[in-house]
Amino acid sequence: MGTKASILTAVSELPDTALDRAAVLDARDSLHHFRARFVDAQPDLIYLDGNSLGRLAHVVADEWGNELVRGWDHWIDDALRIGDLIGTQLVGAQPGEVAVSDSTTVNLYKLADAALTARPGRRVVVAARDEFPTDRYVLEGLVTRHGMALRWIDSDPIEGATTADVARALDEDVALVLLSLVNYRSSAFAHMPAVTAAAHDVGALMLWDLSHAVAAVPVDLEGSGADLAVGCTYKYLCGGPGSPAFLYVRRELQRTLRNPIQGWFGQADMFAMGPAYDPDPGIRGWLAGTPGILALAAIEEGARLTAEAGMTAIRQKSTALTEFGIELLDERLTPLGCSLGSPRDSARRGSHISIRHARGKELVNELAARGVITDFREPDSIRFGMPPLTASFSDVCRGVLALEDVLRTSF
Ligand SMILES: *Cc1c(COP(=O)(O)O)cnc(C)c1O
Repeated sequence: MGTKASILTAVSELPDTALDRAAVLDARDSLHHFRARFVDAQPDLIYLDGNSLGRLAHVVADEWGNELVRGWDHWIDDALRIGDLIGTQLVGAQPGEVAVSDSTTVNLYKLADAALTARPGRRVVVAARDEFPTDRYVLEGLVTRHGMALRWIDSDPIEGATTADVARALDEDVALVLLSLVNYRSSAFAHMPAVTAAAHDVGALMLWDLSHAVAAVPVDLEGSGADLAVGCTYKYLCGGPGSPAFLYVRRELQRTLRNPIQGWFGQADMFAMGPAYDPDPGIRGWLAGTPGILALAAIEEGARLTAEAGMTAIRQKSTALTEFGIELLDERLTPLGCSLGSPRDSARRGSHISIRHARGKELVNELAARGVITDFREPDSIRFGMPPLTASFSDVCRGVLALEDVLRTSF
């Protein structure tokens, strides 16, 4: 497997105790120095959840403090400039195909509604039954409004939707297929070009949710032929709580599809304040209103650091981190009633692992009380997120050892 990390090749020769092994892996980690460039207000906290801040001090003091409303003109361009940065450096888009705006939920609504409107006569939208809730809810509302129906893809809860699973749900009645590239619970990593091709074979549009994929796994929107995509910036892109999301509309579709939210940020000449809506023909036509400027600055910093590290190195480290976590899980947690809730094949896994345990929710709370921050996902998954720029092998190890200790002493 091409992405297998070289840092891990010699794990079997590593020192015996888990923490010593983690220290050796950290010493060999070429991205380890990036950690120092993130805010670390609580050095003892083990943060397996992913978040950061960056340039905020500069934005608050210089731009907000000094420029005030005079900064407005370049703030508008920020949504497109930072969109281009994410687009060209991180997700394989062309300039002018990605914009930062609104929440993932709102962007999903805009793109999915535009897609359904562009496929009149078709009555079905295909999505995964275990898709992230907001994605399912948005589609549920849209199909009702458009007089259409949802058709669910059922797949193995750990391995996720295979191309065959998607293909089984497709026919000429399908207008749109929505899938997360990396599943939020299991971390299953879908095959982007093959799934997209299957959707196109029946004449459907393909919309990818990149929320758990951007800055975690390599994404090639153009190479895979994707039509539309949305993604979250407060996960691996480190935009901070509530930072705006991004959207991608393939250039050929920008004129034929139509943004259902006709806001002033999408207006061709927005400061003319004209009487009627006349959308910008490019990606700006997919904006709606004022984005959160402070968060945009944080996103830019996260995207720059990610681009500087490079997606190849990030993927290598991410794979090594999740492989190390799985190795420790097998060794220490499986005997205590845990099991892996993520694909074992590293090529089919994103940058988090799910550890399943019937009392997962209590375990996540107990871990938090001990300074180890993870996530619980229904019904039984403890999610260890491993953002490659900030997580260390020692973090992963200390997280697993803490879970082992909780299981041995309190359960
Ligand atoms: C995190 C996430 C979202 C977040 O949506 P918001 O509108 O930003 O709250 C949406 N979809 C997926 C798949 C996610 O992982």
